[in-house]
Amino acid sequence: MIPQDTIEQVRQATDILQILGQYVRLKKRGRDFWALCPFHQEKPPSFKVSPDKQFYHCFGCGKGGNVFTFLMEHESMSFAEAVRFLAAKANITIRETGTDQRRDETERLNYAHEVAVEYYHKLLFEKRYAVVLDGYLTDKRGISRESIELFKLGLSGETWDGLLKYASRKDLKPEELVQAGLALKSEQKGTFFDRFRQRLMIPIFNLSQRPIAFGGRTLKKGEPAKYVNSPETPLYNKSAVLYGLNFSRDPIRQANCAYVVEGYFDLISLYQHGIKNVVASSGTAFTAQQARLLARFAEDVYLFFDADSAGERAALRSVEFLFDAGLEVKILVAPPGDDPDTLVRRLGPDGVDELRTKALPYLDFRIRESERFQSGLVVREKLARELAALASKIADPARRGMFLDTVSDKLGVSVARLQAAAPAPPTAEAGVATTRIKPREIELLSLMLHNPGRIDDIILALSAGDFESRRLGRIFDAMATQYRQFGTIDAGRLVDTFQGDESLAVITELAARDWPADEIDLLAGEVLGAFVESKRKARAAELMAAFRKARDEGNEAEAQRLFLELRTIHGTGADTDDET
Ligand SMILES: [Zn+2]
Repeated sequence: MIPQDTIEQVRQATDILQILGQYVRLKKRGRDFWALCPFHQEKPPSFKVSPDKQFYHCFGCGKGGNVFTFLMEHESMSFAEAVRFLAAKANITIRETGTDQRRDETERLNYAHEVAVEYYHKLLFEKRYAVVLDGYLTDKRGISRESIELFKLGLSGETWDGLLKYASRKDLKPEELVQAGLALKSEQKGTFFDRFRQRLMIPIFNLSQRPIAFGGRTLKKGEPAKYVNSPETPLYNKSAVLYGLNFSRDPIRQANCAYVVEGYFDLISLYQHGIKNVVASSGTAFTAQQARLLARFAEDVYLFFDADSAGERAALRSVEFLFDAGLEVKILVAPPGDDPDTLVRRLGPDGVDELRTKALPYLDFRIRESERFQSGLVVREKLARELAALASKIADPARRGMFLDTVSDKLGVSVARLQAAAPAPPTAEAGVATTRIKPREIELLSLMLHNPGRIDDIILALSAGDFESRRLGRIFDAMATQYRQFGTIDAGRLVDTFQGDESLAVITELAARDWPADEIDLLAGEVLGAFVESKRKARAAELMAAFRKARDEGNEAEAQRLFLELRTIHGTGADTDDET
């Protein structure tokens, strides 16, 4: 367990802008910062980060929270991991209390990968593997020692259990390695063996620089599978990861553009030669998630291919996701006989730069490709249909419209005809069902989060039961408890209380509301007044009903008591409408 005061300390030492800025492109507007939401697909940005409140909130999908929840949701960290991660950044030592030293599952899986990276990396430098290190990596592929260190390249040996043995000395059980995708269990014999053998090991990192998977390139001639990759695990979601982004994130953001190459070694080679704004798709089609991920850091994308059969390349199969994410897609084809790796080794970064000036926007590239062998109306018709079909896959209506306009321009076909060729998709604007909540209850809680002067009055006057929404009542309770303990109400602390609860979205929405600073006290007073008044009316109605019932039943004493109580209640209020 991490002591509460350490958590407080970490919270205070952490700046949400600094942390979130590593994951999204923040643009300042007024006192707040805005970005494209990392949790849903969108344009324009509705993800707001408030440095004053140390808070983020998306007006599009409702996700929100503090720096801890962000890491938990976005990096799949546990709360404790997020605290440890931020503590390390802030140079705060954590003294964990209690006997609860058992790290949770993701932490163990991460640890297993760290041990594996270390093991494979060490092995690469053993004398007996000089043929791989010097012969293959250095001489044949031209990879520098610096790059080997940076990308933590390694090697898995011939033995069946090299990693298993090494890991057991590091306190890891075979089952844990199986869960991490690093070992396999033989069903028949019940024994364990390493998943990767005789392969060059390329660790795949998440954006927090922690290893989560491996790509393994064969070192044997004639091996059918050139690459074997880690399976999906709780840590590793293939479709959400872009290889190399942990290294290239800042360069990509600075350049506002990214090269997308296919192989790990294309990336390593470009990076080593100074072209650092690059990610690798690892030869699979782009997913919507990957496209969105990239769109958080850049607006332009260059798909960089070998000369041969570029038109059939995997990344092109899913180009609609790139458009959908709002990216400007251009195609860069290496000259015949070259790939990105050989090109940059032959001509250096200038060679790539020169090639880039000749990159074609995706549409021009498609038109040129399709007219390479034949031209004329038939080809144009076919292409129009293909591009209309592509457009129909673009979910964002504005994006789709722009795309169709451009296609129409370039092909000389009207937009109407294009749309007829492939109708637009049904809009999936399915709104999230939210329970109807009284605006006043929301307003009051939101004002409380801004610590108005009358907060004491509010807490004294109301209780959780006064809220029609039970959820809001619970939040009110938590605020009151916090206020009594700390003397202020802090949204960040509140988020911790409601960790993993549906109420979290409500809290972040409350915190994201802006109130004019000089009117907060006034507004709080007004809303409280209205609240008390409606509470009074509700109570009066209740008493009136009971009074009538007692009177009708001939219960004189009870009727008298209720009548007196009604009088007191009416006496304190402004208007009296008995008949409610
Ligand atoms: Zn969102």
